[in-house]
Amino acid sequence: MSLPSLIFDAHLDLSMNAMEWNRDLRLPQVEIRRREIGMKDLPDRGNNTVCFPEMRRGRIGLCVATQIARFSSRFSRLPGWMSPEQAWAQTRGQLAWYRAMEEAGELVQLRTWPEVSAHVNLWRNAASTAKLPIGYLLSLEGADSILSPKHLEQSRAEGLIALGPVHYGPGIYGHGTDDEGPLTPRGRDLLKQMEELKLILDVTHLCDESFRDALNRFHGPVWASHHNVRALADWNRQLTDDQIRALIERGAVIGMAFDAIMMVHNWQHHRSKPQDFQLRLEKIIDHIDHICQIAGNARHVGIGSDLDGGYGTEQTPMDLNSIADLATLCVPLAARGYKPADIDNIFAGNFLRFLKDHLQ
Ligand SMILES: [Zn+2]
Repeated sequence: MSLPSLIFDAHLDLSMNAMEWNRDLRLPQVEIRRREIGMKDLPDRGNNTVCFPEMRRGRIGLCVATQIARFSSRFSRLPGWMSPEQAWAQTRGQLAWYRAMEEAGELVQLRTWPEVSAHVNLWRNAASTAKLPIGYLLSLEGADSILSPKHLEQSRAEGLIALGPVHYGPGIYGHGTDDEGPLTPRGRDLLKQMEELKLILDVTHLCDESFRDALNRFHGPVWASHHNVRALADWNRQLTDDQIRALIERGAVIGMAFDAIMMVHNWQHHRSKPQDFQLRLEKIIDHIDHICQIAGNARHVGIGSDLDGGYGTEQTPMDLNSIADLATLCVPLAARGYKPADIDNIFAGNFLRFLKDHLQ
C-alpha cells in the first residue's frame, strides 16, 4: 500500500501556536519539544505534533489555517480576550506571522481555485517535498474579532475564504460548543454579508440551535472543517446523525479531527489518557464509516485534524506522534474496504472538489 501523495488538512491553528504557544514551526518537532522542557504554563508543553517539517514529511502540503481570537469576559472553560478590539488586534498579529512565513518561503497563501490546483499539482508530482512551501487557505475560527462589516470586508480582501461564526460558549454572533441558543441579530446579518462576499460557512462549533438557524438562513457553501460523530463521542461538539444528513444534502465535506475528546465517549478533560481507552488512529475510521454509511458514498468526509488545537500527544491516539502519522490511516482504511480512489478522496479529493466548486 503506497502512502498518499497529498493530504489536505482542513483545520490547523498554525498562527495560534506561533503567537500564543510561542512555537517556531519551522523547527524540527524534537527541537520544539526540547525548548519546552520545564514549561508548565500549558498542558501540552513538550507534546506538540505539528510543525512544518512534519507536515512536509507526511505530505500535508495544503491546509486551511486559522486566525482565532475569542472575546470572553465571563465564560471560563476557555479563556478569551476582554474586548473584541483586543481579539481583532490578535488576529492582526496572527496574519502578520502568516505573511512573515510566506516571505520566508515556508508557506504560500492560496485564494483561488487555479492557485489551489497549481499547488496540488506541484505537490503531487514532487519527488521530494522537503523544500516545498506549504499551501494555506485562510479561515477564521469564531468571529468575535470581526468588529463591523468593514472588518469582514477587510478580512475578505486579505484572502479569508471561510468563517465559523462561533467557538466555545456564548459569542457575539451566536452560541457555540457547550452552550445553547440561536444566532444573535448580528449573527444573522453576518451570514447575509458572508453570502455577499462568497465566504464558506464553517458550521463547526455551532451549538445545535445555532446550527439549525445558520443552515436555514445561509444559502452559500457550507463545510464542517473539524467535526466528528456524536453517536461515537456524545457531546454537542460533535454532529448528530440529523446534522450529518443536513450537511450531506448541502454538499458539505466534514473534516475528521484527532482530538481524543472528540473521538470517544466519556473522555474526562485533562484527566483521561489515551491508554485508558486504548485509543488508536484507527478509531477515526468508525467516524468516517458512520458518515459514509449515511451518505451512501465516501464523498463527504475529509481530514480536519485540529492536531495543534491546544493539545498534544496527551490527548491524541497512542500511535500518533506527529501529524505525519496521518498517512498511515491508508492501511486500516483499505482493510475496512475503502478503495484507493475513496482513500484519496478522504485524504484530499473531497475537499479539493468542494473548493473547485466554490472558490473563484
Ligand atoms: Zn475548533
